[in-house]
Amino acid sequence: MRIAIIAHDGKKAEMVAFLLKYKEYLEKIELVSTGTTGSHVEKAGLKVLRYLSGPLGGDAQIAAEAAEKKLDMVIFFRDPLDKHPHEPDVQMLMRICDVHDIPLATNPAAARLMMDTLLKRI
Ligand code: PGA
Repeated sequence: MRIAIIAHDGKKAEMVAFLLKYKEYLEKIELVSTGTTGSHVEKAGLKVLRYLSGPLGGDAQIAAEAAEKKLDMVIFFRDPLDKHPHEPDVQMLMRICDVHDIPLATNPAAARLMMDTLLKRI
């Protein structure tokens, strides 16, 4: 099981709080993330493979994994109230998830539903 996690700056604390609720299970799951999200998650005590920061290409690296069908789920807490210089990469990642039918949660409510379903499979 391999899950990618990404959070825009305004959503990083929410991402950490979300993941900590699943900490016991996440130790059995490979996590990959964009750079800064990953450093917050590491500080919270979880293991994660960190790619580049989102604006430097991290979302594109995660999209590449999605295109290669290496991911079981993408959790991307987007901040709809902020502007992002890498918005084209964000759109590209979401498109690739749709192309390859990878579950994509863009808010905590969706992530909880998907995570609870995925965990029944491990
Ligand atoms: P970051 O990137 O984790 O490096 O902040 C996330 C994003 O904004 O796509």
